[in-house]
Amino acid sequence: MDRDASGASPAPRPDPAWTSLRERLGRSVFRSRFRLSDADRATIARTGWPILEAQAEKIVRDRLAPAQPRNDGRQTPMRGHPVFLAQHATATCCRGCLAKWHGIPPGRPLTDAEIARIVSILLAWIREHAGDLSGFPVQQTLPL
Ligand SMILES: [Zn+2]
Repeated sequence: MDRDASGASPAPRPDPAWTSLRERLGRSVFRSRFRLSDADRATIARTGWPILEAQAEKIVRDRLAPAQPRNDGRQTPMRGHPVFLAQHATATCCRGCLAKWHGIPPGRPLTDAEIARIVSILLAWIREHAGDLSGFPVQQTLPL
């Protein structure tokens, strides 16, 4: 059965880097209090994983990747898109948090590898917190 098409999370892939980051984040009261709302989960189900991942990459490229991102430190809303929430939960919300938690220095553009890593962290967090989405309406994934 293709669980992706049903909107449910695909089988988790073991990722040692994510596992150790998750452990560090779990020790932060601020980072670990973030939860997806039912509205967020409905958005995820409706959007589907491939488009959600593309949206996450666009958000990272637009808001984090420049050497001097606009409004750095305040560029990530607390709600409005599941990716924003995941950014706060995983300390990928601004260049200050990327420096402190992920060892990525500020003042230079993010590399493609860093962008890909951040997107994979965001998707890992969202998959873990979305749970079973089979109760939400799903729309066929449209081409980008
Ligand atoms: Zn931040």
